[in-house]
Amino acid sequence: MVMKKTYFFVFLGIIILGIYFYFQGSTTFHFLSSPMNDDEKFVVHMHPYLEIQILGNIETIPANIGIHQNGMDREGKSQIITESIHTHDAMGKIHVESLVLREFYLSQFFFVWNQTFNENCIFTYCVDENHTLTMYVNNVPNKMYGLLPLRDLDRIKIVYEEKKR
Ligand SMILES: [Zn+2]
Repeated sequence: MVMKKTYFFVFLGIIILGIYFYFQGSTTFHFLSSPMNDDEKFVVHMHPYLEIQILGNIETIPANIGIHQNGMDREGKSQIITESIHTHDAMGKIHVESLVLREFYLSQFFFVWNQTFNENCIFTYCVDENHTLTMYVNNVPNKMYGLLPLRDLDRIKIVYEEKKR
């Protein structure tokens, strides 16, 4: 009798695992609501790099910006939702991936990240009589700020610092 109970629970366990993996298998990637199949190809796939320096410190740009592990599809099934602009590591590498050919801008990265960036402010740090905000693209000062179109391998640097006297 004890043996039979054990078999029953092992059997039940296998069924539960089976159901779990079935639903795991239905996890799909979405790119700004366009469904993705493995055979679909990105027409945009770029990796610009971003560095943010605030008062001499390099800020961490977190991994998994724009990747929502518990997104829901229309049927309420849990799945991973990935924005066209996202990060995988915390090294400042931005992934721009899209099935549609279109321009992407730096402001969109900050929108996905839910952080402030414009010509006056980075995060909560704003230009005032003692501080400046400068953006560099490949070491050249650039005044486009959020309007900067994202380009493969561009090195974007945002520096908030004390005014030099
Ligand atoms: Zn990528």
